[in-house]
Amino acid sequence: MRRRWLFADQLGPHFLDSPDQPVLLVESKAVFRRRAFHRQKAHLVLSALRHRALEGDVRLARVDTYAQAVDEPLTVCHPTSRAARGLVRRLPEVEMLAPRGFVTAPEDFVAWARGRDHLRLEEFYRFARERHDILMDGAEPAGGRWNLDADNREPPPRGVQRLDVPEPPAIVEDEIDEQVRADLDRWEREDGITFVGNDGPRMFPATRKEALARLRHFVTHRLPAFGPHEDAMLAGDPLMAHSLLSPAINLGLLDPLEVIERAEKAYREGSVPLAGAEGFIRQILGWRDFVWHLYWYFEPDYRAANELGARRELPKWFATLDADAVGARCLSDVLAGVRDRGWVHHIPRLMVLGNYAMQRGWRPGAVADWFHRSFVDGYEWVMTANVIGMSQFADAGRMSTKPYAAGGAYIDRMSDYCRGCRYNPKSRTGDDACPFTAGYWSFLARNEKSLAGNHRMRQPLHGLHRLADLGALLDQEKARGSRAP
Ligand code: FAD
Ligand code: SF4
Repeated sequence: MRRRWLFADQLGPHFLDSPDQPVLLVESKAVFRRRAFHRQKAHLVLSALRHRALEGDVRLARVDTYAQAVDEPLTVCHPTSRAARGLVRRLPEVEMLAPRGFVTAPEDFVAWARGRDHLRLEEFYRFARERHDILMDGAEPAGGRWNLDADNREPPPRGVQRLDVPEPPAIVEDEIDEQVRADLDRWEREDGITFVGNDGPRMFPATRKEALARLRHFVTHRLPAFGPHEDAMLAGDPLMAHSLLSPAINLGLLDPLEVIERAEKAYREGSVPLAGAEGFIRQILGWRDFVWHLYWYFEPDYRAANELGARRELPKWFATLDADAVGARCLSDVLAGVRDRGWVHHIPRLMVLGNYAMQRGWRPGAVADWFHRSFVDGYEWVMTANVIGMSQFADAGRMSTKPYAAGGAYIDRMSDYCRGCRYNPKSRTGDDACPFTAGYWSFLARNEKSLAGNHRMRQPLHGLHRLADLGALLDQEKARGSRAP
């Protein structure tokens, strides 16, 4: 049997043809010279690679370039970036197989997408559920409804600082983590390699065993509460009832199908309500597979899309995760979460970080690069649709019907941030003007022409013209420039 070359995001058993297949792993320091990744992301990836190297017949090659490690005939599963796929295609001794680590096959996606004007998650998700018989009762969706989003958009419960769910059990670091930490310290000291964010105890699984333990814990203790407050934020509870499984799934330690099957089983056994199971399965079978396919389906220069003409570079305080420089409570807390953990859940990513970047007209490519480097679960394939398309609306609506732009009223409704903030979500101008509320209107004013044809933006644009203080607001936001709010 040919040796299987596993990229660092292909570490689980589903990337092998049999458990005893010999493996090649490549550790390249050069990757960390090219970009300043989050320190905890570098730690997680190296720890996962080095733990994997101790299992079975594995050759771990420590080289500068991947090509240096390839000196025998190999097979490899389709990699997750265009650059890696290009490299594999240039190496004659390497046979590339179909992708693994996702539920739906590329040819099924292409057949589904062909001829459609707009590619919408909801339609793809229904197609995938039928195709793979997930949460189906015969030909009908379980419980008679495809979409239980309406049950899952509640604000945080009133008067609580945390949801009543147990935290995921802490990871116990070992001597491999110790070695990784020492190596990263040395690379910083001696090799001029730089990182962003703070070091900290490893929070995410680096082995299959750790990942399975997290999955079990989530399904038993946290999934029952996942649904209703999925979109809510609490300053004192950054994890809410989210799974925190994205780093493990993206490293390939968990097969998304096994994660989905566990969630469905819990629903069928009656321990998880349908809204929670459906909401969670929608994230993985729906969103995760959808954005994966869009990365390959859209043309390569989709990554450079910038239909709103946003040209500003990221200010230093944001690029360096300087949360202490920020007075706006929501943004400061979320940025601190990125700095300290390299992870925040979906709504802070979309409605705080992405929203702020879009309001301020930051270059979408720079925002995508920032997300890629600063998050422990960041990979190029995830960025294209999530950041360029969904969060920055840089593709003018090829994957979202309208920009995810919102003022302070949204954040106030969906979180407890505003009560303790120096700004007032209702104020547009003046000393206490909320930067998200003012930013929202200045975003609409700046992009009025581009958004005028979008029927979902008609009402907000109409509202813009009724603002008596628009001139003062625009002067105020111009004066703010790239200063931290
Ligand atoms: P849960 O809320 O528990 O969801 C379950 C799983 O669904 C996740 O583990 C993930 O595998 C999958 N998932 C949910 N939404 C998405 C989505 N939109 N795209 C892909 N997978 C999804 N996800 C990443 O894996 N890596 C990223 O770098 C990343 N960057 C993002 C940037 C922006 C601007 C936005 C809006 C979203 C991004 N996401 C990314 C998607 C999503 O925010 C994270 O997958 C999720 O927050 C991870 O936390 P969790 O595992 O607790 O997720
Ligand atoms: Fe954020 Fe504005 Fe609320 Fe302050 S008032 S927490 S800046 S939304």
